[in-house]
Amino acid sequence: MDMKQKAYEVIDENQENMLALWEKLVNIESGPGCKEGVDEVGSILADFFASIDGKNRFHKFSDAGNMLISEFGDCSKPFIILTGHMDTVFKGGTVAERPFKIEDGKAYGPGVLDMKGGIVILAYALKALKETGWDNYPVKVILLGDEEVGHAHSTAPAKILEEAKGAFAAFNFETGFVDNGIVVERKGMYQFQIEVFGRGAHVGNDPENGRSAIKEMAHKILDIENLTDWEKGNTFNVGVITGGTVCNATPAYCKIICDMRFKNASYLPAVKKQLQDIVDKVYVKDTTTKLTEILEFNPMLRLDGSMKLFDFIRDVAASEGFGELTPKAVGGASDCGYTTSAGVPSCCAMGVQGGRNHTVEEFAVVETLFSRAKLLIAILSKINNQ
Ligand SMILES: [Zn+2]
Repeated sequence: MDMKQKAYEVIDENQENMLALWEKLVNIESGPGCKEGVDEVGSILADFFASIDGKNRFHKFSDAGNMLISEFGDCSKPFIILTGHMDTVFKGGTVAERPFKIEDGKAYGPGVLDMKGGIVILAYALKALKETGWDNYPVKVILLGDEEVGHAHSTAPAKILEEAKGAFAAFNFETGFVDNGIVVERKGMYQFQIEVFGRGAHVGNDPENGRSAIKEMAHKILDIENLTDWEKGNTFNVGVITGGTVCNATPAYCKIICDMRFKNASYLPAVKKQLQDIVDKVYVKDTTTKLTEILEFNPMLRLDGSMKLFDFIRDVAASEGFGELTPKAVGGASDCGYTTSAGVPSCCAMGVQGGRNHTVEEFAVVETLFSRAKLLIAILSKINNQ
């Protein structure tokens, strides 16, 4: 029996263990701001990797989940990156409300799809390969602790760029799609908030002295939404608005939080200039406006190398009976924004397959936990550095 078949068998034998690890990881609170939980996930995984001869390091952050690096083999030689994130979008208390469960072949729970299943897949595929003696290439596992908040409080993006140097391929075990789409391109993200400061006044006794922050903002909102350029792939969403206090006072304050997606980072400077013009333009006299940048996330570039890598894994999947993979471009960001910025050919959405991520209906198809682990085994068994 060849090495790959043996590794497949290790997956078959470890199905219960894979489900147990999945359950354990999902049932640890690791939403925004929950550094403690994310770090607990990191330490469980570090122990797992140590047990299969991984050499662990952490990049530690005081206000964000730590970043775990585990190296298998000598990563001064060309290596493969297996990556993903350990945090979820779900607020504290979610695990108690709806812990991990399996019903009718589907698994549920916070982050079950995005992306704790993917972490189990990469961990067990590595274990299976290690147990069969595979050491064709060094592998570097990179697990992030704050992807869902866009690395707003860490230097993780710079660390990824650094860690990715010397890699010849990267696979990200993000949310897999049930249609077998593999992501080769993602939009970048730019989030910002705008505050307008006006002047409050009694609307009965003193209306002419009021300077409505909401009225000023209303003009600005339309201006911002009008920056959407479908052709270029720049889209704007004014997603949150707060302002005013009572209906019989002129609102002195209004705030919006916005999200912009872009295909190409080269469009950003011009867009930021247009945004600043909107901020500077005054519709309601005496109001002032302040723009605050929240975060920026690199787009996943469609590299020629990524398309070659995709063709390779599509052929592997077809020959191994894992279905017909199709290349996909999506608007949601991932850390492949940084692996592709580092020039490393990357394929994303290699994780467990399911749907409705970031919602209470998030689910993952249990069977794909095993099939995707085998797909990774097949890929790593066959990949060469050309
Ligand atoms: Zn994710």
